[in-house]
Amino acid sequence: MNYRGRFAPSPTGPLHAGSLIAAVASHADALANDGQWLLRMEDVDEGRVVAGAADRILHTLEAFGFEWQGAVWHQSRRKARYREIIEQLLKEGLAYPCACTRREIAETGTPGIEGMIYPGRCRNGLPQGREGRAIRLRTDDREICFSDRIQGRHCQILERDIGDFIIRRADGYTAYQLAVVVDDADQGINQVVRGADLLLSTPRQLHLQELLGFPHPEYAHVPLLLDDQGRKLSKQDKAHPLADDDPLPALLQAWHCLGQAAPDERPDNVQAFWHWAASAWSIDRVPAMQALHES
Ligand code: GLU
Repeated sequence: MNYRGRFAPSPTGPLHAGSLIAAVASHADALANDGQWLLRMEDVDEGRVVAGAADRILHTLEAFGFEWQGAVWHQSRRKARYREIIEQLLKEGLAYPCACTRREIAETGTPGIEGMIYPGRCRNGLPQGREGRAIRLRTDDREICFSDRIQGRHCQILERDIGDFIIRRADGYTAYQLAVVVDDADQGINQVVRGADLLLSTPRQLHLQELLGFPHPEYAHVPLLLDDQGRKLSKQDKAHPLADDDPLPALLQAWHCLGQAAPDERPDNVQAFWHWAASAWSIDRVPAMQALHES
């Protein structure tokens, strides 16, 4: 197989120790499999983008010795493509406009495994006098299962567990779930290594891939680094940005968090680290638990 992996940071702030873990895992896995590794800026949610963050992320990745193939993709430049796909789903009756507000859904929906389950009010057409705000994708009662390379087998019934979900938001931006599926397909990605916060999103992405006739990549969800309050470290919190001038300790710490064996001798520089990491990486050693605590 021609391995094609990717790293897809959202430019909502600088990289931190948590995002580094996902980046290291996906880069090491690509290197170990003689694969390609692509980079994509997930700036689809333009309201959350922080000016200068994308450049800073690229700078940090370079300083840390990451090497990607080809030009960096930007979701903000792919709106026409997302529009085309959403139109297609609407035309095929697989998606529908939804007039409901968050408040209405909170009042009438039931809690699912990730947020409220949409109660289906607009499923068979907009209520009279109401206008479509968002676009939702229809879900069904089939069981969708996949075998995660780290977390093992995971199954969901989307209609029961998640509900019809948004592919275009009320503010007009394409939803992450749709953008990520279209981009992974268009970039020819067949291996996704990313943070475990996205494990529960994967069946939605598999469902979309199926509806669109796209191949399913393989998935590996790496444990998350949590702060002392048990929350995922987030770029918006400005959690400990990585120091571009001292990459090795952070790389070795990420490596350790990923359950990997320490090198016999400390590498002299990032190039030496990656050269060694390419043959030392073992995905079987990555702990399956979903969360690690920042030490
Ligand atoms: N953009 C997402 C993030 O920064 C990652 C999405 C993905 O890897 O599918 O958390």
